[in-house]
Amino acid sequence: MTKDDENSTGMADKIKTNHLKPPASAAINHDLASLAKDIIASAGVGIYIVQDTRFVYVSELYQKLTGYTDQELLGDNSLKNIHADDREKVRQQAIKCLKKESFEPYEYRFTRKDGELRYILETVTPIMFKGKRATLGSFMDITERKIMEEKYRGILENIQEAYFEVDLNGHCIFFNDSLCRITGYPREELSGASYKNITDEENSRIVFQAFHKVFKTGQPTEGFDWRIKRKDGTQSYIEASVSLQKTASGKPVGFKGIIRDITERKNIEQELQHLATHDTLTGLPNRLMVGQLLDHAIQSAHRYNRQLAVFFVDLDRFKTVNDSLGHDAGDRLLKEVAARLRQSLRHVDVVGRLGGDEFIILIEDFQDVKQLEILAHKILATVMQPMFLLGEECRVTASIGISVFPQHGRDEQSLMKNADIAMYFAKEEGKNNFQFYSENMHAMSSARLAIETNLRHAIERNELYLNYQAQLDFRTNEIAGVEALLRWNNRYLGLVTPTQFIPIAEETGLIVPIGRWVLRTACMQNVAWQKQGLPPVSMAVNLSLRQLMDETFLQDVRDILEETGLAPQLLELEITENMVMHSPARLIPVLTKIKALGVRLTIDDFGTGYSSLAQLKNFPIDSIKVDRSFIRNLPQDRDNKAITEAIINMGRSLNLTVIAEGVETKEQERFLRRKVCDEMQGFYFSKPLEPEQFAELLRQYSLSRKSES
Ligand code: C2E
Ligand code: MG
Ligand code: MG
Repeated sequence: MTKDDENSTGMADKIKTNHLKPPASAAINHDLASLAKDIIASAGVGIYIVQDTRFVYVSELYQKLTGYTDQELLGDNSLKNIHADDREKVRQQAIKCLKKESFEPYEYRFTRKDGELRYILETVTPIMFKGKRATLGSFMDITERKIMEEKYRGILENIQEAYFEVDLNGHCIFFNDSLCRITGYPREELSGASYKNITDEENSRIVFQAFHKVFKTGQPTEGFDWRIKRKDGTQSYIEASVSLQKTASGKPVGFKGIIRDITERKNIEQELQHLATHDTLTGLPNRLMVGQLLDHAIQSAHRYNRQLAVFFVDLDRFKTVNDSLGHDAGDRLLKEVAARLRQSLRHVDVVGRLGGDEFIILIEDFQDVKQLEILAHKILATVMQPMFLLGEECRVTASIGISVFPQHGRDEQSLMKNADIAMYFAKEEGKNNFQFYSENMHAMSSARLAIETNLRHAIERNELYLNYQAQLDFRTNEIAGVEALLRWNNRYLGLVTPTQFIPIAEETGLIVPIGRWVLRTACMQNVAWQKQGLPPVSMAVNLSLRQLMDETFLQDVRDILEETGLAPQLLELEITENMVMHSPARLIPVLTKIKALGVRLTIDDFGTGYSSLAQLKNFPIDSIKVDRSFIRNLPQDRDNKAITEAIINMGRSLNLTVIAEGVETKEQERFLRRKVCDEMQGFYFSKPLEPEQFAELLRQYSLSRKSES
């Protein structure tokens, strides 16, 4: 506070206590001589008496404050020097005063004799003067204080954060205007109000506990999230840091704190979460969420000793509809089926979509298998009802596989897998029917078996090889890195895609030796390219959870780096977001050790699992790869646009390199460049290539870059 400020607030206090109190009795008959003495002694306040709007007395100080002499003032109109806009207000106050209605202080602007505009704080009191009714005014110049207030308010308003002080009962005593902005309450309503008034009820315990802890420990809080209820009824999220306020002797008197509005960040997080857990077409829970719900259902079935059924529903001939009527009709059909499934079930049953034409239904709490059979019949019948697409009546049917906890599996994976196998058998049985899982089905699931047996020999038979897909650095327009992608060409099965064989390799544990082979081959290849005189690029290798959890993994990485002579900085290991979120506590130590080797870490398929900003900060990672499902419909899809942008911004704020994968078009590239994404990978720039082809691309690229510069 400045000296001026101190003075003026000091004066204000004096005024309040000495002069602004309403008189005890309405009209006071004052003895003018004693009155004058009092007044002059109390200083700072000019006194005048007005009768019939004319001055009949003005104190010396009043003359000094206004610049006018008593000769000029006495008999003159008392409203004359008041700012035109404020005159009516002051006149009304005088009337109210005479009617004894109000003695509240009021403010107005006054033009001094020297022409300067001053702010005045005034009260009037009705008195009898020379036997006639009059008003006694106490006139105080508060211009300096006003200026300070304005300045102070300006400063506080420019601070985005809200500042507040509450007493020990949580009642607001002091706060800046940002608090009004954040809560939507006007100042008058916040003054003296309890923190509870602005707290979302469900959240008020957390807030209370936070305050309580500060009180007990005397330690300030870390920022904690506080959900508030704004005046208009909407919710906002704020982050608050609170500390204890004490007197000089250490006695706690209240709390003070800083509040930041984090609603936008929360909204993005929630949007991300919704997108990550729901299917955009049907609005049903997606694979990730179905997994979580199933996990949850298993736990409670286990606890209460109940059964639980998983229905794997797959439409028959969906591909034909899609191909003959087109994508839009296909989408409409899927939506319709989703709605019908939803309608034919109880509210408590879960319906989710795994993707394509695959749906999952979870039935908790049923009495016997008969009940499941009835339900399965009902579902088949509803799906079969005709529907109209593009003016044509069409019919689809479904095949359903059913697995039951606990007899067909005790965990999420085996229940899903076995329901899937049972569904496959329902198809074999001529479609439009349902099958319960049974042990011998698994053995008979021949396609899978063929993959599994052949995969066991893939390494020794030299059937595995790698393709390499380039990653372009947007800033330098150079190839910054390359991702190794596994390929398998089997003598009987032909080319099997990674999405087909990697899940099986993971389940059987074969991924550990295969992954080791991939890592060694990729590192060797990288060094070979460098020996050919090509510029060094970073080599990204995909990992499975199984590998990371393998005890020898860290040693394998170390050995392979040493053996091949690849600089650790040029190796980048990709783990998927779902892996990370699956068991963060177990993974962080492993990842930290990998980082310590100097190897870089990337989160692959980012956006498909739900990681919050807070979680991501805990992982020792260098980059994130935006999942290609978000890139696919850029820039038309508004949701994906917003999500991609949010991920890019988030990555930047955490100092991570952001790579977009699956970039296929010029428009996508342009959008990503504009949003300052760091790198891109995808068919638009280059498909996954054979080693020689990639070497050629790298060579041409570095040559053309050289000739350009
Ligand atoms: P990923 O790591 O996300 O790899 C990117 C996938 O997207 C590759 O599929 C790649 O061919 C494909 N792709 C690249 N650009 C485009 C594009 O512009 N459009 C489209 N539609 N696709 C594009 P791929 O090779 O079939 O691999 C599939 C997945 O299999 C990989 O996804 C990765 O998760 C896994 N995978 C591949 N190799 C390995 C490996 O050595 N070990 C492990 N554990 N997993 C691997
Ligand atoms: Mg990858
Ligand atoms: Mg990916």
